Amino acid sequence: MRGLRASAVVLSLTITTFLAASPSAPAAAGAPPEPEVTSLVTISVPDTAALEKVVATGADLTERVRPQPDGSIQVDAVLSEGQLSALAPLGVEKAGAPAAQETPKTPKAAAAADQIVIERAVWFRTRDGYFLSVEATSSAGPTATLSAAWRGRGGASGTVPMVPYTDAGAYLGHQLSTPAPVADRPAWVTVTSAGGGKAQARVREWPDGERPDRAIPGYRKDFITQYMPPGQLNERVKALHRQFPQLTDVIALPYLTNGYRRHAQAQFGAVVVTSLAYGSEGGNDLAMELVDPGAQGRPLQVTVNGKLITVSLATDASGAITSTAAQVIAAVNAGAGSLVKATPYRTDSGQGVVTPAPLTQLSDFLKAPADVSREPARVLALRIGAHRDGSRTGVLAYAQEHAREWVTPLVTIETAERLLRNYARDPATRRLLQRTDIFIVPTVNPDGANYSFYDYNFQRKNMTNHCPAAQADPAARNSWGVDVNRNYAAGSLFDGYVGASANCLSGTYAGPGEHSEPESRNVIWLAQTYRNIKFAMNVHSYGGYFMWPPGAYQAAGRVTLPRPTKAQEAYFLRSARTIEEAIAAERGTVTWPQQTGPVTDVLYSAAGNSADELWYDFGIFGWDFEVGNDIWNPATLTWEGVGFQPPFEEGHKEALEYASGLIALIGLAADYRAP
Ligand SMILES: [Zn+2]
Repeated sequence: MRGLRASAVVLSLTITTFLAASPSAPAAAGAPPEPEVTSLVTISVPDTAALEKVVATGADLTERVRPQPDGSIQVDAVLSEGQLSALAPLGVEKAGAPAAQETPKTPKAAAAADQIVIERAVWFRTRDGYFLSVEATSSAGPTATLSAAWRGRGGASGTVPMVPYTDAGAYLGHQLSTPAPVADRPAWVTVTSAGGGKAQARVREWPDGERPDRAIPGYRKDFITQYMPPGQLNERVKALHRQFPQLTDVIALPYLTNGYRRHAQAQFGAVVVTSLAYGSEGGNDLAMELVDPGAQGRPLQVTVNGKLITVSLATDASGAITSTAAQVIAAVNAGAGSLVKATPYRTDSGQGVVTPAPLTQLSDFLKAPADVSREPARVLALRIGAHRDGSRTGVLAYAQEHAREWVTPLVTIETAERLLRNYARDPATRRLLQRTDIFIVPTVNPDGANYSFYDYNFQRKNMTNHCPAAQADPAARNSWGVDVNRNYAAGSLFDGYVGASANCLSGTYAGPGEHSEPESRNVIWLAQTYRNIKFAMNVHSYGGYFMWPPGAYQAAGRVTLPRPTKAQEAYFLRSARTIEEAIAAERGTVTWPQQTGPVTDVLYSAAGNSADELWYDFGIFGWDFEVGNDIWNPATLTWEGVGFQPPFEEGHKEALEYASGLIALIGLAADYRAP
């Protein structure tokens, strides 16, 4: 029942969040209706239950989620002011200056002392300094008040409160809200409970995985000079194949995208007109006007002259215009239905009388230069290996399911370049290419990526508009599209899992059905076609996570997809530590231990994501990177997110460090022996 009530709340929020309820005419006749302005904001959510509800509204959350000392959670999100206020009933507000560390508001102590178990106490060096992270559980559960105390080898000491962490109602333990700066390496940590419990543990180093191969003198790296739109990525893939034909194949994936293209539109008050042809195929050449005949008792008339549609409005005996929006819509569809379709604006009843409007050119509103193709796009994979015959362990690395994550394709390109350009000189690289079969897809979602580069930088989804007419007016155009990483078939919205939306305007819209989109079908085609693929890395940004399945839980009963076995989980974690070690070796970027783990434990439920399908349906170890770790601000004593498109100087460094991580994954694949 609780679930049902939550759904009702979600439904009403969804409607008010994504569409203005009352129609309004465009500012001036002929001015293109502009989408609502969105921005990247850090929001504060009261607790995990509220976060689950926010996820369920389909709000456009980033992949950066941070628990706070008072039990609240901060999440970065892409929202308009209207969307933000629509979330207020869930207790969502813009995060202000972070509160100083407070004692958690959980005063009750149990009568008998609680049992404390320290799950993990680690100390790590990052480019921003030294940090301590402690995770512990109390038998008293989330209401226990815990603190962690340490003494460093040099004599420095400190105490920090711990915060309870629950997910989908399950208590996962207490942790430090953010790792605490600790320059003096502690040997031991003591966790004390207000309920009387106490435990001690030795502090270990993190990530402490296998050290990466030492680079030989002359090892070549750094092949990235700028953010690259899809056209440049494809050129780079083809150029690498031309230069290294013995080591590579270019695979043209079978499903063409819908293309960087839209139908052309114009809006006349409550009348929305959409071309049948795409803008690039003639729609942009159309124009329409609403004319006052300037005479009495005239009928409503639509005439088409080539590309020009003239609507002569009806007048009464005094010469006043009488045509309503509904009448104009019907007349346009009857008289110009071979060129355009007219529909009412959103929920407008169409009963209002229209006003004349000057000749207005229809537009697809796409701003990319003409050399960016408007045709359906071919997605390319670069296959790399000395033996590309299916006999070697396959590794799939695919990026930019989410269009705005500009750093992610660079990670894959840098990886490909390093593998190919060091093959002849570096024995460790040669070994990787001898023993593995690598498939690299720099951009899964090229149409969305182009839209992100040229039109709307926060574009997350692909460009395909599945919305009905009432949600397809021009001002809604930045909200169309399918979240490619919610369109897969394992643990999907359609199976009853949480973390994807049925609303076509939502940031996490799952699409009309599983695999409805060519972008997701291409990824699955690779897994189906090359059965030697045993490892996959889904590269996302930002937030500094390293995750694996399960990635979703069911709405009913909040049951996750099956957990991997203990042995598999241990392999996921051990591999993660090795890969994180390689990332850290580049410039000291450490992926925090509490951001290393199953998606449902460390982030939030993401129904229908690709790593889950690869793992559950194909037995592929499917990981997700969230590249772009927070940067420590010593002035405010807080970690700050880097965003989707950091200044290239930062994005460049992220690409280099995560390419090292990807190469470490290929190293694990080279050593892998099927059990
Ligand atoms: Zn993403």
